[in-house]
Amino acid sequence: MSKETGFFNFSLNKILSPDQSIFEQARIRLLYYGFGIVFVAVAGLLTSVYFQHKVILTITAAIVLVCAVSLFKYLTYKPQWRQISHSLLIMATLVNLNNVFITMQNVDIVTIQVILLTILFSYYMLGQKWGLFYSLVNLIPVLVFLSLQYFDNYFIMLRPEKVDQTTIIISVFANFIIIIYIHSYFYSAFLNNIKELKETSDEQLELNNKLETAIEKAEKSSQVKSEFLSIMSHEIRTPLNAVIGMCNLMIMANPRPDQKENLNVLKFSANNLLAIVNDVLDFNKIEAGKVVFEKNKLNLVELMQNICGAQMLKAEEKGLSFHLEIDPLLNNKVLFGDPTRITQILFNLVNNAIKFTKEGSIWVSATCFENRHNTITVNFTVKDTGIGIEKSNLESIFEPFTQESVTSTRQYGGTGLGLAIVKRLLELQGLQMQVSSKIGEGSQFSFNMEFAVATETVEEVAPFLLQQNEGMSNLRMLIAEDNPVNVLLMKKLLLKWNIIPTIAENGERALEILQYGNFDIILMDLQMPVLNGFDAAMEIRKLPDPKKSGIPIIALTAAALHDIKEQIFNAGINDYVSKPFKPEYLMEKIQHLVVIH
Ligand code: ADP
Repeated sequence: MSKETGFFNFSLNKILSPDQSIFEQARIRLLYYGFGIVFVAVAGLLTSVYFQHKVILTITAAIVLVCAVSLFKYLTYKPQWRQISHSLLIMATLVNLNNVFITMQNVDIVTIQVILLTILFSYYMLGQKWGLFYSLVNLIPVLVFLSLQYFDNYFIMLRPEKVDQTTIIISVFANFIIIIYIHSYFYSAFLNNIKELKETSDEQLELNNKLETAIEKAEKSSQVKSEFLSIMSHEIRTPLNAVIGMCNLMIMANPRPDQKENLNVLKFSANNLLAIVNDVLDFNKIEAGKVVFEKNKLNLVELMQNICGAQMLKAEEKGLSFHLEIDPLLNNKVLFGDPTRITQILFNLVNNAIKFTKEGSIWVSATCFENRHNTITVNFTVKDTGIGIEKSNLESIFEPFTQESVTSTRQYGGTGLGLAIVKRLLELQGLQMQVSSKIGEGSQFSFNMEFAVATETVEEVAPFLLQQNEGMSNLRMLIAEDNPVNVLLMKKLLLKWNIIPTIAENGERALEILQYGNFDIILMDLQMPVLNGFDAAMEIRKLPDPKKSGIPIIALTAAALHDIKEQIFNAGINDYVSKPFKPEYLMEKIQHLVVIH
């Protein structure tokens, strides 16, 4: 790094700057003070040879002095130490060769010193490559000269100049001083460098420590945030469960048309709120890296029909035509995948397509993109004839809490989390979303997903069929639930199937009741005072009577499911239903587990 100063500068400080490394600074200092010693020595020599009338030596010494002064001036003007070092070394080499071959025609102690000096100086100032170069350029000719002289083959037309002892003493003395000076200077520069390296590594260590603490803090706060969201979601979902459940009941109880309308608005808003809570929760979980993808057996045709079933009604209500196309190749295939996540992704896309389309059609398709022996790549596409998206916004809509425009928020609602969740869910599986859109014409979202194919076909998988509702009135059900609103809700709901449940207000009570009575199934709330659902289930599984210990248990939970799924199964609970749930969904689960007497 060079630093420029005014032409009349002579100060060392002005040519040093903090952005120069320790070695650069040492090299500049060495040149600066080295020039001082050279001036004194060359001036002394010049005077000495001048008075001895040694013409060539006087001219040589004078040239060296002028060059040294010029280079010194150049150094204090521009600290180009590399160029200056090369100049000095070229000069020293020329003087050396001139002395050996022309002026002195001899190799004496001064010659040896000058060679040593150039070796030292070139290595320290310019590094190994140039060091070797200048060393050889100075050494080889001298060795050649010595051999020629040895065989009496060296002869030129000029008589060598002899200098007196004083000149030799000055040269020897000055050269030694310069050699010692260069050595000591570089030794201290090395020491400083090591010290600085150590200081830097100490600083680095301190910085690393600080960084670690900061990361720890950030992780902790993110964990606190996650926990807060989990707790909040539970707290919000519980009353929401009651609101949605009560709405369902009131709608089912033949209300007046105006009441029905109000109830529908209420149900719609509560469902909306629930969707937002779920979105925030899901996003939180994805961000916290807590999403685990499952590899369950699934029938993609059935899954797609389930996902689109409810959406079709919504589209039809809006006057949109809905097309679901499933590749016939998928018909009998059993694939391994995560149905929950596929549902979540497609549901979001289809939901958006319906939301942002006023008229026209929605197409949802699942086509075989690549069909290999034991894997299959399926292309999922959701296409609409909706409002479309500006080209410049095609990336930003995948950012969390980002919607295309403020108008979008006002007109269509939403949190702007749907696509962010979709994108992250795909990314976590190494997949990418393709999107194309034209304003006013519509949008198309698509992605490819690979599935492992099971050897069995759909027919071999246990059929999941809804059984008839008759006979349900005989079902002996125990519900462990502490929240009276939920109890009321469950009771009313079960009345539709003529089921009259027994209620236990906590886990301990459920255990007691179970010991004295006979039941077909237990619906177990997980968060209860005295004995919670997990512990109660574990106690039940330990009961001596196999009829009681083997009773099917369905957990009812308002907590974020993915977090506690493992816990649920570890506790010996057979299945779970997330609150708020659709009554039919709960019935399906019950029927699946219970052999009705
Ligand atoms: P939200 O739907 O809650 O606003 P999303 O993340 O699902 O959040 O979508 C982000 C934005 O992307 C939407 O607000 C909308 O502006 C735009 N968008 C998404 N899907 C479509 C679509 N099919 N047609 C038009 N715009 C869309």
